[in-house]
Amino acid sequence: MVANKMFAQVEKEEWNQWKSVSEEISVGLRDVVGNTPVGQVAQDIVYRQIQLMKSLPLEASDRVMEIQQRAMQAVINGERPDQLYEEIMASGKVAASRAQLIARTEIGRATGALTQARALAVGSEGYWWRIEGAGTRPSHRKMKDKFVRWDNPPTLDSMTGHAGCLPNCKCWPEVHIPEPRK
Ligand SMILES: [Zn+2]
Repeated sequence: MVANKMFAQVEKEEWNQWKSVSEEISVGLRDVVGNTPVGQVAQDIVYRQIQLMKSLPLEASDRVMEIQQRAMQAVINGERPDQLYEEIMASGKVAASRAQLIARTEIGRATGALTQARALAVGSEGYWWRIEGAGTRPSHRKMKDKFVRWDNPPTLDSMTGHAGCLPNCKCWPEVHIPEPRK
């Protein structure tokens, strides 16, 4: 019952966050992912992220892989995040708070990877690291408004990753889009 209550609470909070993400991810993206190499590129990016974060004691890495694929699917399909929580909760002995961390982190990674893949597809070299609100870790606050190249993610608190792709990170990348060639 406690877990259910927590779910309901998490659900509400996450759903608001989710809606804003989901609105950005248009039907167009689903087309792009389905019909161009962007989907595969995004998947590759996620695999590399997982390699970089192997030391992170979230879950066994095969499990992370599985959850990550589901998260990618969820982001692409615009599914509600409670699905992912429930799957994580159902398939492992994991506390609700941990399931929340895992789901949030994996959805952040999937979203970030798709953003990166789309950016690379149009020749973007990087992004400006944006942060919002209080409660951002000092290590992340130091990144505020810095330009980060896609091929050179920073290492913060001994974890390497792009804005929004680190555990519990609510930072986001404002993507640099190059001028179209004339
Ligand atoms: Zn952050």
